Amino acid sequence: MDRRLFFAALVGGAALVLTGCAQRLRWNFPTVTTAATLPPSSPPVTPTSTPLTPEPSSSTLPSPTPSPAPLPIPTVDPVPLPGSPQLVKVALPAGVISKLPGRGALLAWTVDDGINAEVIPRYIEFAAATGTRITFFLNGTHSGWTTYAALLRPLVASGQVQLGNHTWDHANLTKLGDGQVVMELQRNHDFISNTYGVDARPYYRPPYGFHNARVDRLAASIGYTTPVMWFGSLSDSALRVPGKVVTFADQWFLPGHIVIGHANFLPVTTVFPQLSEIIHGRGLQTVTLNDVFIRP
Ligand SMILES: [Zn+2]
Repeated sequence: MDRRLFFAALVGGAALVLTGCAQRLRWNFPTVTTAATLPPSSPPVTPTSTPLTPEPSSSTLPSPTPSPAPLPIPTVDPVPLPGSPQLVKVALPAGVISKLPGRGALLAWTVDDGINAEVIPRYIEFAAATGTRITFFLNGTHSGWTTYAALLRPLVASGQVQLGNHTWDHANLTKLGDGQVVMELQRNHDFISNTYGVDARPYYRPPYGFHNARVDRLAASIGYTTPVMWFGSLSDSALRVPGKVVTFADQWFLPGHIVIGHANFLPVTTVFPQLSEIIHGRGLQTVTLNDVFIRP
């Protein structure tokens, strides 16, 4: 989200609420200084069912489709661990992905942006302490990805953490010219490569989930052939009380889901134990995209 816009809204006495990487805008008028006065939650975003997303206008962001009923939670024992023969990787399908293949109890927890630099090391320390596998779709413009690179690099090198391309500065790619679209992805690609020594291709997540055939073609021209959407959101691209984050995790941490969260505000970092409890209580195994898909 646009941080300047967010704080401008606060100054104006209103809270701009964005969910799931800003799929929906909603205005509320209480202050946001206490848990009791935070705005109510919005339904998490569900993924598009077709490879192409209609281009939205900046003034009429799309409303999320109705949330599907929570899926029954199967118990799978034993859970295949990444790298084990039991976890069979599949060929990466063409086009958009928004869920994981197969029937295993796998969860892809993806974390975007990085607006608040202090959130990033807390995610890293949580991952290191628990073995949780995470895919970060980062914007290299946020300083935390540089400040804490040394802390994160070992997890990236081991494969426990995967890095995906979320553009350099969170641009709405559908509003940019062709050259700018490529530049946004290429600059972030170069940052990831130079800072972490890995190749983020072919995975990119278009900011706000906004992409179209032109953007997909341009992204593919430099190797980003797989837009990664999501099937469930922690809805924490904006400020949430911690309990709401847990509620959304309870709703969306389910087998086969790619869930989107954000490294933008501190509350999520205060409920990591509860989120882990949901994962383990359901017999879920966290995976990166590289754990389950064979890259082309
Ligand atoms: Zn984002």
